[in-house]
Amino acid sequence: MDKNHVRQHVLEIVKDLRKQGLSKYNTNTSRIVNDTIKKVKLKRVIIGLNTPGCSYGKNLEGCFHCGYLKGYGHLNNMYNQFLEDLKQYAGQDTIYLYSNGSFFDPEEIPHKLQKKMLMHLVDSGFKRIIVETRPDFIYEAHLNDLLKSIPSHYLKIGLGFDTYNNDIRDVCLNKGFTRYQYDDAARILNKNEIIFETRIVLKPPFLTEDEAIKEALLSIEHAFKKGSNEVSLEPLAIQDYTLQDYLRKKGFYRVPWLWSVISIIRDVHYKGRTVVGGEAFLPLPKEIAHNCNKCSDSIWQAIDNFNKTQDIILFDSFDCDCIEDWKKDLNTKDIALFNRIMDNINGE
Ligand code: SF4
Ligand SMILES: [Zn+2]
Repeated sequence: MDKNHVRQHVLEIVKDLRKQGLSKYNTNTSRIVNDTIKKVKLKRVIIGLNTPGCSYGKNLEGCFHCGYLKGYGHLNNMYNQFLEDLKQYAGQDTIYLYSNGSFFDPEEIPHKLQKKMLMHLVDSGFKRIIVETRPDFIYEAHLNDLLKSIPSHYLKIGLGFDTYNNDIRDVCLNKGFTRYQYDDAARILNKNEIIFETRIVLKPPFLTEDEAIKEALLSIEHAFKKGSNEVSLEPLAIQDYTLQDYLRKKGFYRVPWLWSVISIIRDVHYKGRTVVGGEAFLPLPKEIAHNCNKCSDSIWQAIDNFNKTQDIILFDSFDCDCIEDWKKDLNTKDIALFNRIMDNINGE
């Protein structure tokens, strides 16, 4: 079956979902970020820039699993919003400067403005500034220009890779970049001694639990091989109007099990610093990775502690009846991926 034909079919579904969803989110992203940070008590210094939105997500397209808000910010107001939000964070060392998509996307934040904000943060005494971006926005010439004013050790970049397999990236996630582009971005960052954390999605839509674990392991291994300083494993969550929500309602998707998360961490933790991320999704997800009601909270607590300590022993004491359901899920086989996708979206 032709890959592009399958991708087009999924895209039509996603466009329909976005038509229903985006119209409901006419709101200020910065305010939502601040409200959310309070609600989930994230102890992080985050500015959520109110940008015009991810340029890759324009025209109801973009990544299939993305539940981000459409941007409503205006470039003229962005710097003032940045200064205003920054006031609450005087005296801190580390800051996350997030947008609706990619900090280095010049349509979201023009290059000059990126530089102005980063320089202001360095001048304000921050020692580490974390931004996130798709790999195809890592332009070597622009980075070289930035590094003339901002020493590389001030920066840390959250770099999207999502998944190893190009077919899965194209048809299940529609990321619109290739593994080669990730590799090239990693090369440029390494060459310029910029620390980066690779983001990996756990369980793209349409994959079985077993396929998802194998794919995450391949992806993490590749990221470390390409010089990633850290990996953030991001279990896919359910947000409204996303492909995974659509599939879940039809009985074709379950968020990843926490047993899968633990098994992946056990296999890779010795290769490099690995954290479980994705807690700052906006809008907040209505369902996140879980096991059963009895064990999920305590395992999430252990994951939080693991993120801080990298101590694998934290997972040794867990046991619960639901591990048998997870094992059953692992043994579920399915038909070839492209046929499965067509069946799932046609509702069979
Ligand atoms: S996941 Fe990131 S790159 Fe993809 S559409 Fe969403 S914001 Fe844009
Ligand atoms: Zn359980």
